[in-house]
Amino acid sequence: MGMITYTIDSRLYINVTNKCTNSCIFCIRNTERGLGDGYDLWLDHDPTADEILNEIKDPQKYDEIIFCGYGEPLIRLDVVIEVAKRLKEKTTVPLRVNTNGHASFIHRKNVPQLLSGLIDRISISLNASSKQKYNEICRPFNEDIYDHVIEFIKESKKYIKEVWVSCVDTIIDEEEIERCRELAKQLGVNFKLRAYEG
Ligand code: SF4
Repeated sequence: MGMITYTIDSRLYINVTNKCTNSCIFCIRNTERGLGDGYDLWLDHDPTADEILNEIKDPQKYDEIIFCGYGEPLIRLDVVIEVAKRLKEKTTVPLRVNTNGHASFIHRKNVPQLLSGLIDRISISLNASSKQKYNEICRPFNEDIYDHVIEFIKESKKYIKEVWVSCVDTIIDEEEIERCRELAKQLGVNFKLRAYEG
């Protein structure tokens, strides 16, 4: 069994699943090094809410708790909601989700609205300034999903206190980074350039 949770500095990360609806060219799941580098993050099964919560003895001791992968955590929306609810009963530590923003389309629900009051911060992978570029870089399961990612960002802004969108450096050029930064500004959300880790 790979690791369900791991820490970086004083943040706790929850490895909710290795499944994803993208297959990004830069994804660590697709690189030769694979997951890990000290941590074994390949799960042999997706953990239940109880399995996750059993690993988090004292949530209050972290600066932030993050639902992530390597994979798309909101594929497992029910588990994220249940764990977030139970953590909120025990801690004031901010909860964050790192997501590709496909979840509302996948589940046919307004996912940011469902996360309202449970998730304090959301970080959405934007990765590109257009559908065509997104499809080249992220190789999603549905070629129109970029429109739904933009919609997801707009809905997140309504329901979640802190919204970030991110791009990965070195994968796109400076001009494209600026277009993404401008798009984030138009959408009224924070922009973050992430370091390529492949
Ligand atoms: S969205 Fe994240 S987990 Fe999914 S393929 Fe892209 S980098 Fe990997």
